[in-house]
Amino acid sequence: TSPLSDRVQAMNESATIAMAKKCRELIAKGFDVINLSFGEPDFQTPQYIKDAAKKALDDGYTFYTPVPGIPELRQAICDKFKRDNQLEYLPTQIVVSTGAKQSLANAVLSLVNPGDEVIVFSPYWVSYEEMVKLAEGTTVPLVGTLENDYKVTAEQLEAAITERTKLVMYSSPCNPTGSVFSREELGAIAAVLARHPHVYALADEIYEYINFVGEHVSLAQFPEVKDRVITVNGFSKGYAMTGWRLGYLAARPDIASACDKMQSQITSGTCSIAQRAGVAALNGGRASADEMVAAYRRRRDLVLDIVKDIPGLKTPIPSGAFYIFPEVSAFFGRTAPGGSTINNATDLAMYLLNDALVSAVSGEAFGAPDCIRFSTAAADEKLVEAFRRVKESLAKL
Ligand code: PLP
Repeated sequence: TSPLSDRVQAMNESATIAMAKKCRELIAKGFDVINLSFGEPDFQTPQYIKDAAKKALDDGYTFYTPVPGIPELRQAICDKFKRDNQLEYLPTQIVVSTGAKQSLANAVLSLVNPGDEVIVFSPYWVSYEEMVKLAEGTTVPLVGTLENDYKVTAEQLEAAITERTKLVMYSSPCNPTGSVFSREELGAIAAVLARHPHVYALADEIYEYINFVGEHVSLAQFPEVKDRVITVNGFSKGYAMTGWRLGYLAARPDIASACDKMQSQITSGTCSIAQRAGVAALNGGRASADEMVAAYRRRRDLVLDIVKDIPGLKTPIPSGAFYIFPEVSAFFGRTAPGGSTINNATDLAMYLLNDALVSAVSGEAFGAPDCIRFSTAAADEKLVEAFRRVKESLAKL
């Protein structure tokens, strides 16, 4: 029998990381694979942020920091919330972590008891479900429809809340769909939450800056629910800082303290040098992000222009983030040139990896088994070549 805990045995490997691994294996064998499976900006971190990290190292910032983050960074995050989101937080309400991923895990582990229900707007980011599992909660997926750009409605939420509901989780802009909630839609969701004071919300705003619609709305902006909203954000996407492992949350003081305690026993907080870089990033504003967003928008349009001519793909226009998430069920039941049958999105993603040498991720892990996710965070010419190959391979089915 295995010495491993039930907990880890019940956990799924991250589907995006698994796909990236397969992709690297093929590349190592000499295949020219275009990797569109990873949710990672292909940009370098802006130079002014790198310079701040170099200076931090030279200035000797090599010691443990306060667990919830250095005071300058927590203040810079409060300033950011005020500037970008018109939200007032005290530095004591901010907890800086090893990526937004840890912020989400801290919040879930600090709020969810065994048996609690966590409503997750679906399609959702792969890790939400596994975090809830770790907390021994029950994920209740609420599925948005293609016709509504996969956005869950306030009516759906109202119908799903029970007395066991503890938490609602969503991302906007959404990974994987690219959907962005409007003020009206989130206001209606806030009104539902206001009627259910035992329910908390975890708003994942990591793609805030990568928004082609313009207005980013935070759930915490609705005063009737602000106290029950935990807002998560970070540096990975907007500042192209994935490898630095820097994210944060803002919450009511008791919830922030719980997250601080949780992380004090697990990581003692994140890297001192990354935190100093984070201060520079935020205080430098969002000009660097705006440049990247212009590129993401151009690429989105480039890809949508190719994809619209591929029969069988139903692709909503993403309002933010850097993915397209076509519905692909038209291909289910078809036979590939080698004789195998495409039964589901996972089979199709595998077929595209082997035949088109393009790696994408099956929607299965995002709670959307009829879809596949392609990242559009790659150079323009790579995207053009990738979707040319995808089109050719799909035509053989
Ligand atoms: N939330 C969503 C929706 C994401 O897509 C990601 C990264 O892919 C994260 C959180 C985690 O970001 P970080 O790199 O800050 O841990």
